[in-house]
Amino acid sequence: MTFSIEPKIINPPKNRHDYQLSEVIRYRAWVEIDRSALQQNVRKVKALLAPKTELMAVIKADAYGHGAVKVANSVLEAGAQSLAIATIGEGIELREAGIVAPIMILGAVNTPEEVAALAHWQLQPTLVQIEQVRIFAAVMRRLEQRLPVHIKLDTGMSRLGTPWHNGTKFVEQVLEAPNLKIASIYSHFATADDPNPEIMQLQRQRFQQAIAELKSKGYHPPCLHLANSAATLSDRSLHYDRVRVGLALYGLYPADHLTDKVPLQPVLQVKARIAQVKTIAAGSGVSYGHQYIAAKDTRIAVVGIGYADGIPRNLSNRLKVSLRGRLVPQIGAITMDQLMIDVSEIPEVKTGEIVTLIGKDGLQCITADDWARDLGTISWEILCGFKHRLPRITISNE
Ligand SMILES: *Cc1c(COP(=O)(O)O)cnc(C)c1O
Repeated sequence: MTFSIEPKIINPPKNRHDYQLSEVIRYRAWVEIDRSALQQNVRKVKALLAPKTELMAVIKADAYGHGAVKVANSVLEAGAQSLAIATIGEGIELREAGIVAPIMILGAVNTPEEVAALAHWQLQPTLVQIEQVRIFAAVMRRLEQRLPVHIKLDTGMSRLGTPWHNGTKFVEQVLEAPNLKIASIYSHFATADDPNPEIMQLQRQRFQQAIAELKSKGYHPPCLHLANSAATLSDRSLHYDRVRVGLALYGLYPADHLTDKVPLQPVLQVKARIAQVKTIAAGSGVSYGHQYIAAKDTRIAVVGIGYADGIPRNLSNRLKVSLRGRLVPQIGAITMDQLMIDVSEIPEVKTGEIVTLIGKDGLQCITADDWARDLGTISWEILCGFKHRLPRITISNE
């Protein structure tokens, strides 16, 4: 058995995290995170913003699968001013890693125990309904602390938030609680990636209307925000005081019509190693269910990555991977830990060689958008789908 790359490191790693990039040679499969691309994307997005507009980096769901702690450090270094996550657990992970930037929680928090946890870890919750105000106020009074909170209005997404036309009543309730301090008021678009801006503009109008009503009562919100990646790229007048950008920081576009707004580079690549190469005879079935039957003698390679790593089984027999800068077809059902590819066109490939599933390989470039299109889903879901079994390895081209 020959490996295309000589193993340089002989000492076994002491624990699961004790890996360096040079030890990529050990992995059967991994995710590569390009730190320079990530930081470049932050700078490009920031360049679209007015100097006073703040960039809040959305790093929920383990930074869309990229690894939350490392992404947080990289985006803050590159100029993001605050972070958004979905759950208290995600926030604690960042605080435990020593991150001190403001962190907003996008999800709802409804119990006194959770409020105490927020206060302890200095995480800033989103208030979405009046019922929360009583609980939050009581806990914070007992703790004798003041908690910054973000008010969410529902302007048409019909997800979290108080209906925009009840916004004033809601805000007045929060203002009556001395232990709560309104840090911002925000809403979220449902269709910002649609080339037709009609619904987005309606939501913006509703937001404006709610804010105008507050101002007419003498309350001036300290910070307003509305834009996700799509709205940030499509219309500067939607930026307000802060933009909440997720997808674009990871180098993907929320919609095809927004690709000319700013140059972005994908941050994540998925790679795996060939575990075995062999020739199977014409008529042989490949993988569970024999969904693929070799029409001729076929050189196949077994690759050490499968659906338990986040390669969707629904891509079986449709996936293309890149090997030595050439696209080759995946054949047969994708299994939990392995998949097979047809390497008849490159019969000399060897055990240990690296296959690119997502990313650049010579002239080939396979993106999460390609998979999303084939699966009838969106790139957000593809990025979040890579499992923790794949180590995240940071590379930097700087
Ligand atoms: C996830 C999320 C974002 C970021 O969305 P992208 O399209 O990835 O930029 C912004 N705001 C809210 C409320 C979100 O849930």
